Amino acid sequence: MIDISNLHTGLYIGGDWHDGQETFTTHNPATGQPLAELAAAGASDVDAAVDAAESAFRGDWGALAPSRKGVLLNTLADLVERDVERLAALESIDMGRPVGMGAAMMIPNLIASLRYYAGWADKINGDLIANDGYMGGPAPTHAYTRREALGVVATIVPWNAPLMILGWKLAPALACGNTVIIKPAEDASLSILHLAELVTEAGFPPGTVNVLPGLGKVAGEALALHPRVAKISFTGSTETGRAILRNSATNFKRTALELGGKAPQIIFDDADLDAAIQGTAMGLFFNQGEVCAAGTRILAHRKVYDAVIDGLKGAAQVQVVGDPFDAATTMGPLVNERQRDRVLDYMKIGVGEGADVITGGSAPEGPGYFVEPTVLAGTNEMTVAREEIFGPVGVVVPFDTDEEAITLANDNQYGLSATVWTNDLSRAHTVSARVEAGAVGVNGWSPLAPQLPWGGVKASGIGRELGYEGILAYTETKTVTIVL
Ligand code: NAD
Repeated sequence: MIDISNLHTGLYIGGDWHDGQETFTTHNPATGQPLAELAAAGASDVDAAVDAAESAFRGDWGALAPSRKGVLLNTLADLVERDVERLAALESIDMGRPVGMGAAMMIPNLIASLRYYAGWADKINGDLIANDGYMGGPAPTHAYTRREALGVVATIVPWNAPLMILGWKLAPALACGNTVIIKPAEDASLSILHLAELVTEAGFPPGTVNVLPGLGKVAGEALALHPRVAKISFTGSTETGRAILRNSATNFKRTALELGGKAPQIIFDDADLDAAIQGTAMGLFFNQGEVCAAGTRILAHRKVYDAVIDGLKGAAQVQVVGDPFDAATTMGPLVNERQRDRVLDYMKIGVGEGADVITGGSAPEGPGYFVEPTVLAGTNEMTVAREEIFGPVGVVVPFDTDEEAITLANDNQYGLSATVWTNDLSRAHTVSARVEAGAVGVNGWSPLAPQLPWGGVKASGIGRELGYEGILAYTETKTVTIVL
């Protein structure tokens, strides 16, 4: 467990902590008991945060040399590294993930993003553009582009991997010279509040980073509507993404939307079956299945279908569901009661539509929002294979030909990621090219690394984060032409 009594729970605006006019209570999902009382930002707090972020953008942060910005990002990475255990524990007590998983993967991912973009901060260049004389005449022109920061960027993040996902937005936004307002998810603000303390300790100019805990409908909506927020970078549900896109139209905000998924994992009969089953199980049960890229549609070639079913059943049954602070635990509770009930409802719908429960299918007795790791056998038409469940539930669907596998994979509104299991090189490339997804992993889950662009197609969102695309996403091109 972890002591949170000394954690700031207010609004972090302009480098200081402020009380909110309202508060809200978060709960520990492993026990269902109240955990913390946090300030809830209102519209006037959003205005104050925009004022602070804007004056840092026009002032100390904007004036800071690019290489100094990089140094500060690296300093923040050092502090996150120092506090990795505490940050992982704060996320576990808030949203339920086994603590070792956060310490080994999610928090290090934030550190990697901060360091990667620290390196970019003084390497953001425009182009010198060859062109004809001025208006086609004899006077030569000197034309070039500048990549300029956007201004105040709002980031709205979900509860399933708060710091990791925040890092994909915060690090490039700062490296490009923007200032940032963070709206954490209601259910998982604690690690981001601790990060705010580290921002102060690192020595960022006040107002460069601001944190507004609060409700999506209030603080999130006010940010999306705000006329002086230049960009909104959102990760969350498709439904909220639609609302943010509508609200962003007020001032034509730049938007990046990383939304839901229903990732196919296609297992061909030539695959290394042990690796495929192990990898598929990880794609199902990692982070309790609360992963946008969770590979919840397992398309198995009919020749290996029975072996896949048996293998996944075994992999589900060795999961240890329990206290996120117990080292033996591999799956903690789901984030809240609503999410637990939603997952159980989907299982009932699946059974009602004729899915076979291979293993799992219910919630263990006792307090907390735990759900059994569940494998269903069904068809691609069933609701459980069409909609994002966001819990540890996979549906296995058989196929006979490559063409059928691709058709099934693409027959879904989402297109975030996909995994292909095959040892046939030609098939690996062909299927990867034809699957509608922002990222395809062959013989392994798509790695989430700062160098690799990430984002979806179709209802999985708009835009890409990470890699050089992250730099493009947080800058705007200005063309300058000088008639010589
Ligand atoms: P959510 O959409 O309910 O909430 C996400 C964030 O949006 C929260 O901070 C919330 O407070 C805020 N919000 C809610 N209503 C808002 C509004 N009207 N205006 C502005 N902000 C608002 O999503 P969630 O339940 O927290 O997260 C789960 C969803 O996130 C899943 O659908 C999952 O697939 C998706 N997700 C996507 C990725 C990705 O990279 N594509 C990563 C993680 C999670």
